[in-house]
This record gives sequence, structure tokens and C-alpha cells, in this order.
Amino acid sequence: MTRPSLIDRLAQAQAERAQAGLLRRLRTVTAAQGPQVTVGGARLLSFASNDYLGLASDPRIATALRAASEIWGVGAGAAHLLGGRRGPHQALEEELADWLGYPRALLFSTGMMANIGVLSAVLGRGDVCVQDRLNHASLIDGARLSGAELLRYPHADAAAAARQLAARPDAGAVLATDGVFSMDGDIAPLSELAALCTREHATLMVDDAHGLGVVGGHGRGAVDHAGLGVAEVPLLVVTLGKAIGCFGAAVLGSVDAIEALLQFARSYIYTTAMPPALASAALAAVRIARSEDQHRQRLAAHIEHFRRGAAERGLPLLPSSTPIQPLLVGDTARAASLAQSLEAQGFHVPAIRPPTVAAGSARLRITLSAAHAEADIDALLDALASASALHPAAAGVISAGVV
Ligand SMILES: *Cc1c(COP(=O)(O)O)cnc(C)c1O
Repeated sequence: MTRPSLIDRLAQAQAERAQAGLLRRLRTVTAAQGPQVTVGGARLLSFASNDYLGLASDPRIATALRAASEIWGVGAGAAHLLGGRRGPHQALEEELADWLGYPRALLFSTGMMANIGVLSAVLGRGDVCVQDRLNHASLIDGARLSGAELLRYPHADAAAAARQLAARPDAGAVLATDGVFSMDGDIAPLSELAALCTREHATLMVDDAHGLGVVGGHGRGAVDHAGLGVAEVPLLVVTLGKAIGCFGAAVLGSVDAIEALLQFARSYIYTTAMPPALASAALAAVRIARSEDQHRQRLAAHIEHFRRGAAERGLPLLPSSTPIQPLLVGDTARAASLAQSLEAQGFHVPAIRPPTVAAGSARLRITLSAAHAEADIDALLDALASASALHPAAAGVISAGVV
């Protein structure tokens, strides 16, 4: 028999990844107070979180969680359609729909599940799914699971997307894009993509995991930022684990679209509903996120301060106006040694390496939060400058696209 051992094959792939210096490492934070975290006994100031508004440690949300758990206990006990849906789930869906100006919302347990559920429900064999090359893995996996043909266009290149759609004029088509790109921090060209989808009769789907709460009027996200709504973006995915500071996700759309997803999105149907107390906490967080612009103003001031300080120190940032501020390094080993050197100075800044980003584009992914103090940002800038001086770039390593 020549059947291969799958466990051995996995171990081989693992060994190859280790050889290339690309092994991912799981570390445990043993204590956290906002951006101050303890890892392996060391106290670090974190620039790694997606808690952009500082809501994950807002005491009002923790209080809402405790109060709701007094009423609802912990687990929902069943899938949404089999009795797991409770009052807080419905209230949260209604609040999200009202905030974002969409007719209806449907909660999913995570953004990963929302994207997989939506794309596999909407698309089928013979259809086409056109996606930005830098889209989140969950959009890629959703398209693959659907059986549709997946076509990926160069980052933010609406003309290339147009050519891909035009080449398949008879196929059902979804164009899916991140609203704010998770590893680059830039905003998708949604107006152009919306015009293209209208022209081509394609359905535009936006995953705004990193835009919600951060960009757009009152934090409504990238769709609002582009002046668009349900007419141009019939499917909008948002997540509750980033700027909202909780956990979970929702899909927004027309009443018909949401009713259909409830019937056909398997990652909605065949899973336990999120804990109702968590939905209640997320409701409190959404109300704060939409009504308290001061957190966004503080975050915007931090972003501006950081970019100005980086320019003064000659640090090569990518062109981003969002709290995701990648410092392009290029070489994988150098990115890792920069991250280590920052950690020795008391900062947690993750090095993002292939395969998460393209070969030759390793970077430090710095994320800012309203929970940071301006002094935290100054301290990081000084540490970045001294770490860069300690680990100089090899000639030609810093690639194009740098401001
Ligand atoms: C984080 C993220 C997701 C996944 O959301 P989870 O709720 O964490 O599963 C989906 N899309 C994008 C763009 C993300 O950044």
C-alpha cells in the first residue's frame, strides 16, 4: 500500500515552514488592562489589538455583560432557528440596522462564519466571484466553498476587476472586497467598484471588519464613507470583535436578502447562537460606538500624531489614514528581529510575514487605539527609530509603495 500518512505530511509541511523561519507562534497574554498586557511575565505596551475605540475594556460594557448574564445565564443552548434566538439577539440586529441605515441585519457568531455563510449561500457553480487580492482569508474561503470560479484582481485595481467581470458577462457575479484592508490599512475604492457593479449587474459585497466604528459618519464604516448604502452595496458584513470591542458579526442587507440567508447560510443555521449576554454587551457597545464621537476624534489625533512622528524619523509607513499603520520592512527575518527588539524595549508590535502577506512585503503591523495615551505613541516612535537603527535594511529591501 502506498497511501501516505497525513500526519507525517503535516509534520513535513510544518518542518518546511520552520526551516523558512515562518513558524507562527501562539503566545498567551496572562493579564491585560487596555493596551497594557503581560506576556511571558513581561509587561508590554500593545500596538497589536483591533480594539480601535478602546471599548473592549470599557467598564460600561463589562457591566452590561454581567447584568445580562444575571437574566440570561451563559449559553444560548440551541441554534438560532431552534430556540437559541433571544431578545438581545433581536435588539442587537435592530440597533445595527438602524445605525448603518440598512433594512435588516442577521447575527453570525464570527466574521469568518458570516463571510463563509453568505458567499456559499449566494454563489454556486457556474457563477463567478471577483475579489481584491488582499481580501481577508474568510472571503477567499467562502468563495471556494461556494463552488463559484474565484478571480482575484490586483489590490484596489477597479479597472482590472472590470476586465474580469466583462470577460464573464453571462455568469452570476459577486464582487467582494474588504472595506478597510486588514494588513495595509487602506480603504477600498468603493465608489468605483459600486459604479462597476451597477454597470455589470454584479452584486457588491463589502466586509467592513476594520471600518465599522472607525470611518464614516458616526463610525458607520467604509460604505457610508463612500456615500453608499444598501442600493449599491446589497451585502455588508461587519464584525463586533474589533472596534466594537466584543465578539460576533452581522450581515446587513434588504429584508429579502436577509430572509434568504436565514434559510440558506449554513454557518448561520447549523451552529449555536452566540451567548445572549454577549449580544446584550455588544448592544451596549454599539450604542456607545455610534453616539460617542470623542473616541474617534481621539483616535484620529493619534493617527495624525503617529504619522507626523514617523515622517520626522524617516520611518517608511504605508499610505493609510486608518488606525492600521503598517511599517513596511520587506525582508522576513528583519521584520522578526525588529519585533523582537521592540519587545525587549517593552512594546508588543507583531511582525506580519508570508503567507499572511506577499513574499517580500513583511511588515510591522502597528495598530492604534483611543485607549492609548499620546505619550505611548511617542514612546513607540522612539523605540521604532532606535530599533530601525539597530537593524538597518539591506540595500533595496524596502520596496515600492512607501510614502
Ligand atoms: C477579523 C476579520 C474577519 C473575521 O472576523 P472574526 O469575527 O474575527 O471571525 C473577517 N474579515 C476581515 C476583513 C477581518 O479583518
